[in-house]
Amino acid sequence: MPYKGEFSNKIMHERLIKNPEFQKRLKELRVAYDTPNRDITSEIRQMFRIIDTEDASKNVKIVFAVDGSYTDIPINNNIPSARIGIANFCASVVKLDELKKSAQYEFLDPHEFNDTYTTGLLTFVGPLANIIEEGKTTTSQSIRYAIYKFMCNKPFDETLPLINTLYTILKEGNDKTVESFNCPNPECNEHIEWDLEKDNINPKKCPGCGEEVYLTDWLRLHEAVEEDFESTSILSRLTQVVEHLLVFNLIQTCLSNQTLVSLPFSMAFILDRPLAIYGEPAKLHRYILKYYHKLMQNKNTPLIIFGLAKSGRLKDHFELLERRMKEIGEEIPKNAVMLVSDAYRFKYIQQRPKRNEYFGQEISWGQDFLFYSKEAKKFVVSLPYSVDEKKKEYYEKMIFNIDSYSTLPTVLDLINKITTDLYEDAILPVALAHRYASISLKPSKQILEMFARELIK
Ligand SMILES: [Zn+2]
Repeated sequence: MPYKGEFSNKIMHERLIKNPEFQKRLKELRVAYDTPNRDITSEIRQMFRIIDTEDASKNVKIVFAVDGSYTDIPINNNIPSARIGIANFCASVVKLDELKKSAQYEFLDPHEFNDTYTTGLLTFVGPLANIIEEGKTTTSQSIRYAIYKFMCNKPFDETLPLINTLYTILKEGNDKTVESFNCPNPECNEHIEWDLEKDNINPKKCPGCGEEVYLTDWLRLHEAVEEDFESTSILSRLTQVVEHLLVFNLIQTCLSNQTLVSLPFSMAFILDRPLAIYGEPAKLHRYILKYYHKLMQNKNTPLIIFGLAKSGRLKDHFELLERRMKEIGEEIPKNAVMLVSDAYRFKYIQQRPKRNEYFGQEISWGQDFLFYSKEAKKFVVSLPYSVDEKKKEYYEKMIFNIDSYSTLPTVLDLINKITTDLYEDAILPVALAHRYASISLKPSKQILEMFARELIK
């Protein structure tokens, strides 16, 4: 059932569209970036490189996929402005060698799967607008506390809280030993210094105002809350951070366990989003990029992490491209991939940002690719940049050089493999649950140990 307001909005909308004045006005507006015309479309076809993916992912035995969703709800019918935010994270670990027999395919409602406490891995519940935690005086204070408490969760076993993963990423993804950030109290101008050698994850008091400060305040998520507005942007910011932390938390959980120490290198970690951190916590992306490369130092095998974007401009562009090609009787070659360089992006997809020279300079730790799979499905894939830092001199030579991405064939082969008979934009943890027999929706250290033992056999 739609809400009352939503329903009348829809009627308004329909009336507006039929209005001749509106129609006239519409003719004066145009789409800023469209897919190129026929001649160019043919040229773009050449930019897709067919690559040999045969068996490239044979060393990947286990896939971990994570997906977060969020919503906000009023807590009291009489005060609709008082809202809490809920973010739910679902994840799955599957062993790739055991496909389900088709008779065993059962129906799994993605909404039910995604939105319930019982099947989710973790659920965040926190104040959003006009709600405070006991003992706190402002919404901002309450949300900072709620985020801190949530980050103390140990998702995969009883040893490693998410906040420790944040701590390690800050420490390892950085040359500095002290992180400093503004005191979260808006009335205080003090800098909080977090010594990554000596301090731990415990809260401390601001030396200026005495406010309780958490390491998670470094993320600045609370700044996405406006006391007088209802906005879910904090939930979207939180969700992307937590999805990233979950991947690295699982990797760290394995690395600190003797039985599991080599397991991450037989796994693939998939995020249902581009490899980027948007908004207030954006700076985290640099630390992640550096840390990711550090994890692979002195290792012969790469760590496979990639993102799949379900929506956005690239996805739209890819859809249009496919349609335009068909109109001129051409096709994008199958099992072919195109690296989306800035030259391409700023020509066909969007405007060059005003403040930065490169796309995603302040947010991305991954490079986007358009992949047209063996079965003619379209995927927007994002792979960690091939260098650990985004220096200017690296862009043309490395970042936009498809040959510098050694894990690309593995990733694409894997996508071909796991997405057979699935929708392009399926919720991945759910989709995998449909297809594979050995699956855990609440991955834990014990389950990974079991998988690891079976792999050794
Ligand atoms: Zn202070």
